[in-house]
Amino acid sequence: MYLDELTQLCGKLGCRITPECPLSEYITFRFGGPCRALISVNSARSAAELIKYMKDNSIRYGILGRGSNIIASDEGFDGVILLFGSDFARIEISGTTIRCDAGALLASACVHAQHASLSGMENLFGIPGTVGGALYMNAGAYGSEIKDVVVSAQYIDSDCVIRNIDKEDMDLSYRHSIFADSDCVITSVTMQLTEGDADKIKEAMNECMAKRSSKQPLEFPSAGSTFKRPEGSYASLLIDQCGLKGLTCGGAMVSEKHSGFVINKGYATCADVLELCSQVQKIVKEKTGYVLELEPVILK
Ligand SMILES: Cc1cc2nc3c(=O)[nH]c(=O)nc-3n(C[C@H](O)[C@H](O)[C@H](O)COP(=O)(O)OP(=O)(O)OC[C@H]3O[C@@H](n4cnc5c(N)ncnc54)[C@H](O)[C@@H]3O)c2cc1C
Repeated sequence: MYLDELTQLCGKLGCRITPECPLSEYITFRFGGPCRALISVNSARSAAELIKYMKDNSIRYGILGRGSNIIASDEGFDGVILLFGSDFARIEISGTTIRCDAGALLASACVHAQHASLSGMENLFGIPGTVGGALYMNAGAYGSEIKDVVVSAQYIDSDCVIRNIDKEDMDLSYRHSIFADSDCVITSVTMQLTEGDADKIKEAMNECMAKRSSKQPLEFPSAGSTFKRPEGSYASLLIDQCGLKGLTCGGAMVSEKHSGFVINKGYATCADVLELCSQVQKIVKEKTGYVLELEPVILK
């Protein structure tokens, strides 16, 4: 069984490995079956070695950041999850440049920037995920995207070689980057900020967080906005217009506070969420003509 060999490799690399790990504990939606093993990556080099091992041995693997944009299958994932989290989360500031390991929380990067009186990330504060996950999705909010501040990134290419890429080559657009079209894995992100006033930056960050708390159902597990913004409209507006607030499937419900969010009332399964999403998509298409596309990534 490959797990013995993988455990030895993790020992050599100093990475923690948890066999038969429930994904529900690692995704913000709080459901999902087990993966064969979850490995907490601790460096770009370890990640490259681990990915090479998976590829050489034809083992399925998946990359997880904070799990805040993931729908995990009830059956789990028949493979290994490489977690880019707190074991790989250094943040370094040099002048107006901030460099973050892929597992660093975006919120921590924002706080570090604020402490250093660096402006540019205020509107990203409150997006619950890692810096790597944010670049993968080109995360954004309130008129800003990570695209506005990123200058370069380090990544592991398809041949398991660690390389650098400039922003111009990342094909960044609404909730999309080149990484989403490939099996390349982001290991660090460098962003260019501007000098600002620490108090004003903090105020702007607090305003963002206050808007989130007042408009979003943060008291329930979710994956944030469940549908991408369709061209010419807003998913939440269309769902609202169709009277779908509160629509429920098992433990999954269209939030009454923000109709763009499907929430887990506490006992939702992946099947509940996918069934609810498909009902919403069908009704919105029938009533408005708009096609709603799922924003979270399905891990199965
Ligand atoms: C309450 C709430 C509010 C949210 N608000 C927003 C918002 O305002 N704006 C917004 O854009 N999003 C929002 N989201 C969605 C989510 O937080 C973002 O998309 C976030 O950037 C995902 O980061 P993550 O680390 O959690 O990635 P994950 O969910 O773990 O992964 C998402 C995808 O990225 C891939 N990935 C992760 N890390 C890497 C890496 N290092 N290299 C390659 N691939 C990688 C994964 O394989 C997966 O395909 C929200 C989510 C929640 C729960």
